[in-house]
Amino acid sequence: MTEKIDTKKETIIIDHKIDQIKPKKPIRKEREGKVQPSRLWSQFAFALISIWIGVEFYYFTQYFETGGSAGSFYRPPGVDAFLPISSMMSVYYFALTGDLHQAHPAGFFIFLGILSLSFVLGKSFCSWVCPVGTISEAIGDFGEAIWLKIFKRKPTLPRWLDYPLRSIKYLLLGFLFIAVFFSMGAVALKAFLDSPYNIISDVKMYYFFADISQFALIVIAVLFLLSVFIRSFWCRYLCPYGAFLGVVSLFSPLKIKRNTEKCTSCHLCTIACPSRINVENVKKYVISDECTSCLKCVDACPLRDTLYVENIITKKKVKKKAITPLVFGTFFLFVGLGIVTGNWQNKVTKEEYEVYIEMKNSLGHPTGVQSKRELEIMEQRNREAKERVPVKPQK
Ligand code: SF4
Ligand code: SF4
Repeated sequence: MTEKIDTKKETIIIDHKIDQIKPKKPIRKEREGKVQPSRLWSQFAFALISIWIGVEFYYFTQYFETGGSAGSFYRPPGVDAFLPISSMMSVYYFALTGDLHQAHPAGFFIFLGILSLSFVLGKSFCSWVCPVGTISEAIGDFGEAIWLKIFKRKPTLPRWLDYPLRSIKYLLLGFLFIAVFFSMGAVALKAFLDSPYNIISDVKMYYFFADISQFALIVIAVLFLLSVFIRSFWCRYLCPYGAFLGVVSLFSPLKIKRNTEKCTSCHLCTIACPSRINVENVKKYVISDECTSCLKCVDACPLRDTLYVENIITKKKVKKKAITPLVFGTFFLFVGLGIVTGNWQNKVTKEEYEVYIEMKNSLGHPTGVQSKRELEIMEQRNREAKERVPVKPQK
């Protein structure tokens, strides 16, 4: 499809043409180091941590599957990172009552860490920490390399399709927010957080993948294939967590600044941006809910002090070498806070896990959009599960 670029309105360069822009050459190289090696190490480290958590959680489930003869009764608290909705509800419950719920306390601190990271350095969680973001990036790079080899251009969706698709994640986020913030008070939140369903939501998630249904497998395969041809399909169009962090990121004081006086419009930053942001034409700052603070654009800019991170409050440049400690420092500050305050491991007993895991297939979501009758049945099952937990004799 051919489409004219309106050169008089450079700021509205047609989105799907951005990826086909050719860089101007040659340009003097700057000497400041790059952020990308640290970012890739960060992604690698968090991917390894996720795998390690997965292995430990496997042994945790084995413990209950074998009646304690194999595996281990150690639940890695980091698994709470994969329960963002429960964690968000826990933070909301804390805001309403001042109580830190003990079902998934690590999730509470991880959620706060991610939220703070977004306030500090935009949506950096997506491009520095999140293992799904890492996988999406790797698949996107792979797809792009193949596409470039065959068609000599990057695969992109036209803007008329890209824009409406990007709104899907906000719709999902809207439903989630209405279901939690507009429909639940402290009592309903406590009922959910206390429920056996919530307590073993990590176990249910594990079995969702361990005993994956054919339908779920097809959905994942389709998402995978789409991500090969459309970079970060899940993250860009469907992830409500990313949508939430994108909104929060708009309030971050650290923004990428383009020095319009020095910029030579070489296009390198725009070409480097995986989020298809027209960096070379921003008036001053990159302000976009799609920017993941990967800083590929900053690394791509060949001129000193032309494209860099600036604190919009102090108007001071943030050096590249400060970015990595900032990301790690912010995130692990909250992890450390959870550990030192003794709110990292949950307080769920072995007896509770034994009963709840045995009943896992009959435990349902105690809230949601089911009919009143279904809701009553689920609440009843959650009650039964709690009643079946043997009461420990008082010492
Ligand atoms: S604008 Fe820069 S930091 Fe933001 S997503 Fe694009 S390349 Fe990454
Ligand atoms: S900001 Fe840097 S990379 Fe982007 S167009 Fe200007 S000189 Fe080129």
